[in-house]
Order: sequence, then C-alpha cells, then structure tokens
Amino acid sequence: MAPGRRGHRPQRTCVQCRAKGDKDGFLRVAGRPGKGWEPDPGAERSGRGFYLCRDTGCVEGFARSIRTPKGSRRFRMGASAASLAEALEEWRERS
Ligand SMILES: [Zn+2]
Repeated sequence: MAPGRRGHRPQRTCVQCRAKGDKDGFLRVAGRPGKGWEPDPGAERSGRGFYLCRDTGCVEGFARSIRTPKGSRRFRMGASAASLAEALEEWRERS
C-alpha cells in the first residue's frame, strides 16, 4: 500500500498528538515564525500553518504546552506563544 495515495483529499497531521486525517477535523493555526500566530478556523490565511485536532483536547493541550518555556521553544513561538495560547482558548470557548 502506497502511503499518501488513498483518495485525493489532503491529509493533515496534528502537531500535538501526531494524528493524521482529513483537514476538516483540524483547526489550522496560521502565521509566521517570529511574527505571531493566530487560529485560522476557515483556513483562509496564506503563509505558514500547522494543525491541531478540533475535538480531542489537543487545542487545550497545545495551549497549555506553549505557555511553558519548553513548549514555546519546541514550537519556536518566542514571545507570541502567550497570545496564541490565549487566542486558542478563546476559540475553544466559542466553538
Ligand atoms: Zn491531536
């Protein structure tokens, strides 16, 4: 079985738990390293992006993780980590 060849829908990978799946199951986070990151639920923004599972606690887990110096370094978020964590928690409460 050739990986990546099942169907033509784009597959995404959650940065928190490494689950793979259809992009509809993921929240996109868009931004630029060193500039800042924001939730991009409609996947409308250009530029760099990464993905988190919408429904499994990965958004909360990721937000908690980037509030720590270790997690912030791991994802190279720098000073924008805290504001992204806040934006993710707000998105979570609204959805
Ligand atoms: Zn996940």
